[in-house]
Amino acid sequence: MATTPDIVRICRELIDLLPDEALERARESRPDLRGFGVFPVYAPVEIIHAAGLMPVGLFGAGNRIELSHAEARFQSFICSIAKSTLELFLGGHVQLFEGAVFSSICDVARNLASLVKRNAPGQFIDYLHMPQNMYSAQSSAYTRAELNRFRTNLAAHLGRPVADQAIAESLLLYNRVRRLLRAIYDHRRQNPCSIAAADLFAVAMAGTRMMPEDYLPLLANFFDQVRSTRVRARDGVRVVIEGAFCEQPPIGLLETLEAGGCLVQDDDMMIGWRLFTQDIDGDGDPLAALAEAYLRESVYTSVRHDARRPRTEGLAQRVRDAGAEAVLFTPAKFCEPALLDYVLFRSKLDKDGVPHLKVEFEEKMWTYESVRTEVETFAESMLFE
Ligand code: SF4
Repeated sequence: MATTPDIVRICRELIDLLPDEALERARESRPDLRGFGVFPVYAPVEIIHAAGLMPVGLFGAGNRIELSHAEARFQSFICSIAKSTLELFLGGHVQLFEGAVFSSICDVARNLASLVKRNAPGQFIDYLHMPQNMYSAQSSAYTRAELNRFRTNLAAHLGRPVADQAIAESLLLYNRVRRLLRAIYDHRRQNPCSIAAADLFAVAMAGTRMMPEDYLPLLANFFDQVRSTRVRARDGVRVVIEGAFCEQPPIGLLETLEAGGCLVQDDDMMIGWRLFTQDIDGDGDPLAALAEAYLRESVYTSVRHDARRPRTEGLAQRVRDAGAEAVLFTPAKFCEPALLDYVLFRSKLDKDGVPHLKVEFEEKMWTYESVRTEVETFAESMLFE
């Protein structure tokens, strides 16, 4: 059985891979496997998996590639993930993929989907119009129809059906993955010293670089190891990370936050891949079940408007559930949904007397000196007040 450091090392290697490299790695045991790109935040990975494809997260390229072509197609003030995801397509890093799916999270993602579509001939590039009204009489039927449209068009592109039965089986598999992730996050909430934030991030993100049937035993092994390892408690300000739901922070930034005196108890990283609060019922119509889960069982995020469950309340609840003392906002630079919500979140936290600090990031972030100083000052002001 692999040890925790072994598993973390494997996961860190995996999340450093570009999409084509991740697929090549998976093809070592499944030579005919094809990939399908999934841009954050949420996508119905069950349909993609049921089609016999590997869903691969498109989270940009970190420091792995230089932007040679993408900058010419976008304005300057735009998040890194949009530019480097386009560069991945223009640079041939998504060639062995059948296509990719984007969804209605923001204007940037909408433009990106169109640009990718224009520049990826022969691939199936789709854009999901997720519901903006979760409670109208048509919400359920609409969401199911949108998922079915995606299934039908993907099947037409592949030239083979994507059957309900296959989707139901994938649903059960992803239920198990999400259940384990929920349990690991729950464990971390109770024992923040048991898993470093950067390590949990790597383990959670590795699931976007593997087939779920291969990821599941790795995740189970990790959870077993973490639960059975005694760790020494250390002092720190117990925090929740908020705002990293789409573009993901560099791992060095997460290490800096903890090195600066914070203990991360909860976060919203990779939230789209662990969106649901409960298992989805695989009996009956799987697309209807997926649609209901999206409408009723989703965690709050800044890209999903839910009139009856305000996001400010969602954050306040997350802070309470985690037993956290403070919030670290980590929005990607130029991420409009995160920065707009920051105004609302900040006002709510001020009202509730919860301290907070904002630390923006971008892909090509080389040094963390100033962040460390800011976080240390913030943590010390709380620890020694
Ligand atoms: S990082 Fe923000 S602005 Fe950029 S694509 Fe994601 S949600 Fe949109």
